[in-house]
Amino acid sequence: DFDIKNQPLRILGTMLDITERKQTEAALKQAKIAADAANQAKSEFLANMSHEIRTPLNAIIGFSELLSAYLMDSKAKSYLSAIQTAGKALLTLINDILDLSKIEAGRLELQSEPTDLMIIITELKQLFSLPITEKGLDFIVEVDSTLPSTLVLDEIRLRQVLLNLIGNAVKFTEQGYIKLSVHGKPTNDSSKLDLTIVVADTGIGIPSDQQEKIFAAFQQQDGQSNRKYGGTGLGLAITKRLTEMMQGQILLSSQENEGSIFEIRLKDVIIKNSISAKIENPTFNLANIAFEPGQAVLVVDDIECNRQLIQETLSQVQLKVLEAVDGQQGLLFAEEYQPDLILMDIKMPIMSGYEVVKCLKTNPHTQHIPVIALTATAAGENPRIEAQLFDRFLPKPIYISELLKEVSAYLKHTMMPLVTENVKLPDTFDMAPVANFNKLAELVKKLETYLLEWKEIHDGLDLDKIGNFSKQIQLLGEEYQFSKLSNYGANLNEFILIFNIEQIEKTLNQFPELVTMLKSKVQ
Ligand code: ADP
Repeated sequence: DFDIKNQPLRILGTMLDITERKQTEAALKQAKIAADAANQAKSEFLANMSHEIRTPLNAIIGFSELLSAYLMDSKAKSYLSAIQTAGKALLTLINDILDLSKIEAGRLELQSEPTDLMIIITELKQLFSLPITEKGLDFIVEVDSTLPSTLVLDEIRLRQVLLNLIGNAVKFTEQGYIKLSVHGKPTNDSSKLDLTIVVADTGIGIPSDQQEKIFAAFQQQDGQSNRKYGGTGLGLAITKRLTEMMQGQILLSSQENEGSIFEIRLKDVIIKNSISAKIENPTFNLANIAFEPGQAVLVVDDIECNRQLIQETLSQVQLKVLEAVDGQQGLLFAEEYQPDLILMDIKMPIMSGYEVVKCLKTNPHTQHIPVIALTATAAGENPRIEAQLFDRFLPKPIYISELLKEVSAYLKHTMMPLVTENVKLPDTFDMAPVANFNKLAELVKKLETYLLEWKEIHDGLDLDKIGNFSKQIQLLGEEYQFSKLSNYGANLNEFILIFNIEQIEKTLNQFPELVTMLKSKVQ
């Protein structure tokens, strides 16, 4: 029944209700803003911190790589290799923490593009074959023969997922096998398929009450020996989140002491009929690449040891290196010296790499110069922006072969063939090109003086001297255009770089034979 007397109170009550709700809403909004800001601050802190850690780490890994070519003592070499292993482990940890914080802040974007799954599988096979055989395990790889060659996937992230699962399988298995199987199932839509990737092992297994827990960050099996297995418990947390971002799921079935099966299911993966043929990249190292002299590279980086590392590496392949300590100097040098290529750090004070490259690309005097970004993560920091502004990007820490590969995409160079097997001298000496035949006598004369030098060095095994010798022989081969000779020098140099003492001796011993053979051609 309608009672007029109650009306004002009810309205008042409703008004009070609304005010209260509005206040709560406002408070909630305020709290959310504060939480978002805190989250943002956390992500920024993590990103900054990992950048700060990566910088010295870059120097540790890069310089130990350079240093390894100078060490001969086996004890010193084993110490150096421990530094390298520890450096790489630390880098993995930092990358994992950063990845996870990026995923959680919703800042990680997938980059799906046509991908040849077989290339990834072959790489994984190569990568794990050594640790797997060292543990006396079998590695079984089973790939559905009907699987299309090209699927649209985020190659980097899929590789990361598989590296983690296979890495764990190897780590937690003492006998038996690791099996990687890949299968595709047709869907109603002929342009898509459901992809299943299974990593199975016959290792220690995971008790059922822990099978959920291990997918959480920083979680490992209860009571697991840290000394024996190490790890951080981040891998599966990242793997699970990445799989979910790919619209997939990860399943686990496992029996204690029998083994584990991790299964990745990706739904509706797009099939591409063809892929632009990927050219197999030759091996790049200091010994087999020769840049046309006179070319200059400008390095813009505020950290001195980063610049020094690049300077050391590139000057060994006869490139001129200019160094700029910040963006402004970078802009000046680029305009004044017109380098053939610029390597640009992204995170720099005052002017970031992004700002510098924008200026370079809008200045008619510098816009033609290719710029490679030096980024902190394998996928780049802001992949979309980088793809727009930079010609390429190179992740830190910088490895010699990667640096040479990237740089060689823009600079004139020649590649020397590499023989890592036993160098076998041919029975008949290749006399082409004929034009050089007349010069053969001159070359033989020169080689005879080298024979004297050879006698001196061949007993001592002084790698510096042998290195010099090999380079001179290589140059001589190039000068007289006798590929056999330049290959001989290049091979010898390669064996020095990888410290293959047995091959150094063998190759050195072949030198008199090579000279005799040449001599017989002039007589
Ligand atoms: P981490 O390997 O660095 O510890 P992960 O997140 O990759 O981190 O794995 C978390 C834990 O899950 C491991 O520490 C281990 O206890 C368990 N685990 C993962 N894979 C396996 C496996 N194949 N067999 C047995 N246990 C596993």
